[in-house]
Amino acid sequence: MIPSVLPTYSRAPLSFVKGEGSWLYEADGRRFLDLGAGIAVNALGHAHPALVEALTTQAQNLWHVSNLYHIPAQQALADKLVDESFADTVFFTNSGTEACELAVKMARKYWFEKDQPERVNIITFDGSFHGRSAAGIAAAGSEKMTKGFGPLLPGFIHLPFADHEAVAAAMDDTVAAILVEPVQGEGGIRPLPDACLKGLRDLCDETGALLILDEVQCGVGRTGKLFAHEWAGIEPDIMMVAKGIGGGFPLGAVLATENAASGMTAGTHGSTYGGNPLGCAVGGKVLDIIAEPAFLDEVNRKAGLLRQKLEGLVAEFPDVYESVRGAGLMLGLKCTAVNMDVIGAAYDKETLLIPAADNVVRLLPPLTITDDEISTAVARLEDVAQAVRTKNKD
Ligand SMILES: *Cc1c(COP(=O)(O)O)cnc(C)c1O
Repeated sequence: MIPSVLPTYSRAPLSFVKGEGSWLYEADGRRFLDLGAGIAVNALGHAHPALVEALTTQAQNLWHVSNLYHIPAQQALADKLVDESFADTVFFTNSGTEACELAVKMARKYWFEKDQPERVNIITFDGSFHGRSAAGIAAAGSEKMTKGFGPLLPGFIHLPFADHEAVAAAMDDTVAAILVEPVQGEGGIRPLPDACLKGLRDLCDETGALLILDEVQCGVGRTGKLFAHEWAGIEPDIMMVAKGIGGGFPLGAVLATENAASGMTAGTHGSTYGGNPLGCAVGGKVLDIIAEPAFLDEVNRKAGLLRQKLEGLVAEFPDVYESVRGAGLMLGLKCTAVNMDVIGAAYDKETLLIPAADNVVRLLPPLTITDDEISTAVARLEDVAQAVRTKNKD
């Protein structure tokens, strides 16, 4: 008999009833160190007092009015995002997938309005992830996500990751945009080298194509800059944000330059819940905290500490952990052992890790993780390695 919840997820046998900072509590009182943060969503940890206050204050006043009216919290968050980024304008969504939908529509509409309606193709990359909607799975293109779902949305050109020559060769006058994650998340924490991102920017500048960055996972302080592309010193034309921006409340956004957004006039796009007062009140507070230079300095310092300790683990347990990769507090441990065995052993040590492709275990802790918690995390990963090693010897 089919479960009452559609069985599309394979879930761990855990259910949490309370969260606080970097910790999640089971009903039986067990306390888990959360190194996944809801897949980079709880950027400020669980139940951050400032976010609880922002949400409850807003909830006591106004939940929803629809985008038929002006929404002050939405306006304020858009202003902040414009101040803090390359963007001139922002559209709010409830998720990363919806941000992907708009990014694709915006790029195509741009060329339609420039009297080049044949420029509809969007270049994407192996190992990418852009959400589970019809456009999202067509964009990523992997068989795992697309098989069985019938005709896919056309207009995506899939190329090898970080292969500049392949992109250069594909840049003809049908290409509307390039869509890329500066650091692939689901694909196994694969950072696109800065030189590659600059190369994509150059190809776009030469051909007029728009550069769309998917910073749904790597954005909002995760890599130690407010947005990951800042490390490469380039700016996109369009950027998708979600996950961390809501700190756990469903919120996403598409940020764009005035030029890239020029086709999106009244009536061309919309969302019932997008930019609702609750999400924007929380998002505004998240951004106030994370955009502070001192906060980002701390992310970088802690990222260096964690990474150094993880390198030590790789040296000590080469039969379990193969290498460390990633940027900031978006780290991947490529495993020598089976990644799901590592994650299972971590559950036994009351520690939450997240799998990714390429046999990688992801560490995406709250950006507020403390030095003590980092030490605890690494001590537990040592215990995990011992347990996996022992199991593999039997
Ligand atoms: C999670 C994710 C998405 C999809 O976001 P949802 O909020 O799950 O719809 C898109 N792109 C990237 C890079 C992601 O990590």
